Amino acid sequence: MAVRNIRVEREQDEILRKKSREVDEINERIITLLDDMAETLYKSNGVGLAAPQVGVLKRVIVADAGDGLIELINPKITRESGEQIYVEGCLSLPNVFGEVKRPEEVLVEGLNRDGKRVEINGSKLLAVVLCHEIDHLDGVLFTDKAIRLVDPEK
Ligand code: ZN
Repeated sequence: MAVRNIRVEREQDEILRKKSREVDEINERIITLLDDMAETLYKSNGVGLAAPQVGVLKRVIVADAGDGLIELINPKITRESGEQIYVEGCLSLPNVFGEVKRPEEVLVEGLNRDGKRVEINGSKLLAVVLCHEIDHLDGVLFTDKAIRLVDPEK
């Protein structure tokens, strides 16, 4: 396992704005990517990480909202309900925080590392994290959706 460099948004780095491709074969490289992303997530004290954030344009995310590690390949939101406003940050946007309106609960379908179809039911923080990470796979950052930015110093 290895900690990977997190891509930070700046004008020269367009990778965070690109659309990631579906994974069609879960090979050794994908397993290593998952391992490295988990290690990078924990090292950074984050709650979620998407592959484009480590420079890989593949539809892979990891998340841990406090109840253990979730790994998802080709994740898709299949159901959503309610709404909540949560102050979000992003490992790729250091020191930027903003209020974003998201569903309160989501059902996400994807594959695990064994290629089995899994469903994750996320509510509250986990719903926020899943939506935020899946947005990354389409080149969307939370600042695109923020109702207002929040200054953490105030
Ligand atoms: Zn992010």
